[in-house]
Amino acid sequence: MTRPGIQRLEARNVERIAALDLCHYCGTCVAACPKDNLVRLADSAQGYYFHVVDEIACGTCDLCLRVCPGEELDLRHLNTQVFGAPATNVELGHFQSCYLAHASEQDARQRGASGGITTTLFGYCLDQGLLDGVIVAEDGAASLREPRLLVARTRAELVASAGSKYYPLPMMEGLLQVLRAPGRYGVVGLPCHVHGLRKFEELRRSLHAKIALQVGLFCGYSTDFASLDFLASRVGAAGMEAIARVGFRDGHWPGRIALELRDGSVRHLSRGERDMVAMIHMPTRCVTCPDQTAELADLAVGDAWLPEIVSRKDGQWSAMVVVRTSRGREAFDAAVKAGWIEAREVSPEKVVEAQQNLLVYKKRGMRARLRVLAWLGKGTPRYGPEGAPYRSRLLDYVGAVLFAIVNAAAKRATVRRLLCRLPSRVIAPFAYVFRHALQSYDLRARLRRKLGDLLP
Ligand SMILES: Cc1cc2nc3c(=O)[nH]c(=O)nc-3n(C[C@H](O)[C@H](O)[C@H](O)COP(=O)(O)OP(=O)(O)OC[C@H]3O[C@@H](n4cnc5c(N)ncnc54)[C@H](O)[C@@H]3O)c2cc1C
Ligand code: SF4
Ligand code: SF4
Repeated sequence: MTRPGIQRLEARNVERIAALDLCHYCGTCVAACPKDNLVRLADSAQGYYFHVVDEIACGTCDLCLRVCPGEELDLRHLNTQVFGAPATNVELGHFQSCYLAHASEQDARQRGASGGITTTLFGYCLDQGLLDGVIVAEDGAASLREPRLLVARTRAELVASAGSKYYPLPMMEGLLQVLRAPGRYGVVGLPCHVHGLRKFEELRRSLHAKIALQVGLFCGYSTDFASLDFLASRVGAAGMEAIARVGFRDGHWPGRIALELRDGSVRHLSRGERDMVAMIHMPTRCVTCPDQTAELADLAVGDAWLPEIVSRKDGQWSAMVVVRTSRGREAFDAAVKAGWIEAREVSPEKVVEAQQNLLVYKKRGMRARLRVLAWLGKGTPRYGPEGAPYRSRLLDYVGAVLFAIVNAAAKRATVRRLLCRLPSRVIAPFAYVFRHALQSYDLRARLRRKLGDLLP
């Protein structure tokens, strides 16, 4: 039931979050609602899931709002809840140790998004009876915009869910399938999923025992479901329903986007077209997200953008793993000891090096983006005293203004339809500038790298 704008802003439920454009589409509110089906995430046809709150049956408990990480996310408080103290490392949050790692089994390594750690670690936990199931996501069978959130109870189900799907999946809605079931479960999610789960944990203490392992994926940004229409348009198809499957990382790591069409053909997109998707379809909320490395997860996994990995041509890729809690430590060490995962300990600086671009973007650019969006009267999240610790530079403000303009324009259906019709070569220069203005902030460092040997 949708109410007019001003009433939605005053609502003591998550309609307020949707009205402020602060939703991550994480699904925590759906799981937290004490009455069945009052908060639902409806149809994603316009690019996102939208909240439907049955306001007649809705009381005044505001539980959905209290677990929601969209507007209120006190990072100091949550760090203290999870780790017993505020984070001391601004880039990475709390950690015990960091690794360069990959699945030992060749097939698992190749199938995974960046080394198959997530699928293999959970596979080990299921095999050893440490977990009874894991909440994961598979592409939808009928339509890609209706993904299947499932509780994988076998390794085969886990393997079928491997790989990254670069859209905002409401993973925490999957909690509904385990809250009343016996057993202990694992969850995989993006940083914002973990934020929601940690807030929910604070309200419902029994969740801590029920969800025994939270694996977070590093995340720079996501792209909405309407991006699938744009991808289809690049290969001359009318809309996303022409696509049977998207392989976001086809071929050797880091791979290319491969579209498997319903007629059986496979088409690949260029790197530039990937940038265009980010420019047009990045959710507004992603741009004020401060967490690149899933700082509140038990253990976090992401790409190893290191020269020695990037330059490999043999497809033998590895991931960065950040072990944060004792739960993460026990599971990871056991899987390594049992030979399921191969790992080499590295310094935290290596993880920062591997994620440098997006860490600078998220941490240093945050204050500028929060300010620019607030100046424009947009909803902005509150992160407590640890929110935007770095001072932004002038270029960060330029990127923030550019984002605000592009994001506002690209949300219009007419603009999106027009962009679907334009050839890639027309859009490419804009996407190039956008990516560099928004993401490649450390121009001095880049220049130093490029000039490298020439400098004394
Ligand atoms: C939207 C998005 C943005 C990302 N951005 C970055 C980045 O900027 N830098 C970086 O280093 N890494 C990023 N990653 C993480 C990276 O792509 C890998 O997922 C991660 O390194 C784990 O690889 P793996 O081989 O261990 O995972 P796999 O073994 O392939 O398992 C992946 C698991 O993730 C689950 N999953 C897939 N898509 C989603 C989703 N949208 N939401 C929640 N769970 C999902 C699957 O169900 C599966 O269980 C991103 C991932 C996503 C989904
Ligand atoms: S809990 Fe998640 S899905 Fe629900 S309103 Fe908040 S951010 Fe959106
Ligand atoms: S950038 Fe942040 S808000 Fe966006 S999908 Fe990633 S974790 Fe969620």
